[in-house]
Amino acid sequence: MEFDLIARHFTRATPGAVLGVGDDCALLAPTPGMQLAVSSDMLLEGRHFSPQDSPAGLGHKSLAVNLSDLAAMGATPRWATLAIALPDENDAWLTAFARGFFRMADMHAIDLVGGDTTRGALTISLTVMGEVPPGQALRRDGAQAGDDIWVSGVIGSAALALAYRQGRLFMEQIDAAKVLPALYLPTPRIELGLALRGLASSAIDISDGLLGDLGHILERSRVGATLEFSTLPTLPVVQAYLHEAVARDCVLAGGDDYELCFTAPACRRNAVLAAAASAGVAVTRIGHIHAEPGLTVIDANGQPLHVDKTGYDHFAT
Ligand code: ADP
Ligand code: MG
Repeated sequence: MEFDLIARHFTRATPGAVLGVGDDCALLAPTPGMQLAVSSDMLLEGRHFSPQDSPAGLGHKSLAVNLSDLAAMGATPRWATLAIALPDENDAWLTAFARGFFRMADMHAIDLVGGDTTRGALTISLTVMGEVPPGQALRRDGAQAGDDIWVSGVIGSAALALAYRQGRLFMEQIDAAKVLPALYLPTPRIELGLALRGLASSAIDISDGLLGDLGHILERSRVGATLEFSTLPTLPVVQAYLHEAVARDCVLAGGDDYELCFTAPACRRNAVLAAAASAGVAVTRIGHIHAEPGLTVIDANGQPLHVDKTGYDHFAT
């Protein structure tokens, strides 16, 4: 039965693998000379998604958030394995989940080569593997004093959508409709990650919020940063709610947008913009790195902003 389920829902051609689903192991032949970038992410019902969420959307999102880690590393996606626990064998659910999953997989030519399937509370655990030339991975520990800080796309939308869904923020329905896709259908910035190889001094994807994730770069690079709040790129609909503290928190510390936050030497500004244009994504300069430790957010007049978000532990230092 379980074997049948795997054959029907999770077995596809794997042109990038020597051997895919069906044996005790998959067989992979990495491109000679390349390094493997490997990452796992788990999505739990009740914590990362709710039972009402669309299964196709979940298929999309579970792979997208994993691909986002490859993007943040500047790696080319190659292979994925999927470990999934299901409360029951719901064929309609599995069909929709697989549709969302493989649509995203096809977009980035990543092959599902294996996994595990078991009965249990709905849990989706993915491992992705990508390739990167030696020395060219975008790590968290390379930011230097004087570097610019950049962010791709717009931020805050997914967190605003979640706040709306949880009843923490009132939004007009027409406005909510503009931010909900960011929460359910994030876009991994694979092309941008590749274009930033050899250009960005550090990078991270924003899964837990700009301040926290940039904080990881600062910690690993042993530097500090100043961000200018007014430069943070947000959708016009998000700007319309920025008078609310909840919305400001969403932009600074919300997460789930899966945009890239990265640093690059100030002398490479034009190259960064050209790389972003070639990847078809907007990037915005939001601050700079300095030697003094700590992370400060300033307003357009250079005055430090008080940030409400209490859960943020790097902010006070
Ligand atoms: P084993 O008991 O040897 O681990 P399984 O019955 O767990 O074998 O899995 C059989 C095959 O199906 C293996 O190749 C495994 O990688 C693959 N597989 C199992 N579950 C999944 C899944 N959810 N997605 C993709 N491949 C899977
Ligand atoms: Mg198994």
